[in-house]
Amino acid sequence: MDDWPAIADIAGRVQKGELKAVDLMKHSFDMIARTKEFEAIISVPEARAMARAKEIDAKVAKGGKVGRLAGVPFVAKDNFLTFGGKTTAASHMLENFEAPYQATAVNKLEIEGAICVAKANLDAWAHGSSTENSDFFVTKNPYDKTRVPGGSSGGSATSVALKIAPFATGTDTGSSVRLPAAFCNVVGLKPTYGAVSRSGVVAMASSLDVIGSLAGTVEDAALVFDVMAGTDELDSTTIERDPKGYDIQSATFDLRGSKIGVIKEYMGPEVEETVKKQINGAIKQLAEAGAQISEVSIPSLPFSLAVYYIICPAEVSSNLARYDGQRYGLSASDAKELEDSYNLSRERGFGAEAKRRIMIGSHVLSSGYYDAYYKKAQTVRTKLINEYEAVFKNVDFLVGPVSPTPPFKIGARAKDPLQMYLSDLLMVGSNITGVPSISVPAGFSNDLPVGLQIIAPMRADRQLLSFAKAFEGLSK
Ligand code: GLN
Repeated sequence: MDDWPAIADIAGRVQKGELKAVDLMKHSFDMIARTKEFEAIISVPEARAMARAKEIDAKVAKGGKVGRLAGVPFVAKDNFLTFGGKTTAASHMLENFEAPYQATAVNKLEIEGAICVAKANLDAWAHGSSTENSDFFVTKNPYDKTRVPGGSSGGSATSVALKIAPFATGTDTGSSVRLPAAFCNVVGLKPTYGAVSRSGVVAMASSLDVIGSLAGTVEDAALVFDVMAGTDELDSTTIERDPKGYDIQSATFDLRGSKIGVIKEYMGPEVEETVKKQINGAIKQLAEAGAQISEVSIPSLPFSLAVYYIICPAEVSSNLARYDGQRYGLSASDAKELEDSYNLSRERGFGAEAKRRIMIGSHVLSSGYYDAYYKKAQTVRTKLINEYEAVFKNVDFLVGPVSPTPPFKIGARAKDPLQMYLSDLLMVGSNITGVPSISVPAGFSNDLPVGLQIIAPMRADRQLLSFAKAFEGLSK
């Protein structure tokens, strides 16, 4: 596995004509072929990628200006609508779907010259924590083929770890960028809710869905985020960018005097000792570098997983209603009448997990149960938002593990949805409240990667990235 240079270096060399975008594409395609056994990739839009690379090289040859991601290959999670091939969300429902437009995030990357070389595997519709819920195949952990890469952006994280491309896109509704990043030893950023437009990304749970970046370093993840972030009239939840932007190449962060809260509820008995040991090691490094460490409590945090697994399926059941076999996606051609067509198309197009979420979601939203489940979950959500705000009055950042366990064995949790849901225990709080968080590699335990989760107040993405870069620098 040869390391990619920093993204800014790659683009800089393409801009000067020292590197050819076409050769970068060939390298990525070669890596895809050489790492096939990990099954990270669903499809390869080769013709479009090569055509775009040639255009960029031709422009450079003529002395034209190319963008700050010129010729940089990237892997898009297959729930981002892209031209040049299919977008499946790893579901049979969209197996043959070709997008009529591209995601805003992808357009922004393309405007700066980045080139999509592959569409990555995921848990179908992004429902899951291991990529085992993909309707197509299971991606393997790059450090141990018998283990999961995490999910749902498992193909994205694996692609970055296997050096198929220097970065990948992901979505994080409850863990899906941070968990696979931690399991694959790469950086995974889940920005503040609304920081990146979701237009053209298959919706999962709209009050939680966030677009993130996965890369080898914090600086690379930040640069990609900087390109994708900003308001978009096609997504009314988008927020203004930080006036300083999110490119932190020249940013410095003084760890001395920074106030770090270790979340008590994230270091409980659910967290395996091997993970705790690594996280405590990371905290010690921060303390030695001069950070002020204190233990903090967010009392309602133990309810966050229950809140998430009510609100998320409620919104999933609503978002998946559009796949009815009539306008796009799988359609049962043998249906005799309209009602049959709805039923058969949905029966055949959705896998077990999507069906489970549609049922749970419809149940918690139904008259008679709405108050007991959905409304109560929303009440606790508000309580959590208030508790996070209170804790951030005393500390600048929160830290804890990403996952309570190291990457688990393929098959170990696949038959038990509740066990699978527990993987998200330490991450959903950030989605419920909307705050930004990042997973940064924190070493290995028994040859398996462990990630440190760093959480910042709403809209403090730039500070989060600068701090994460400082932490990353401690272990180098
Ligand atoms: N693992 C979580 C779930 O299954 C989160 C998925 C996600 O963030 N897309 O819902």
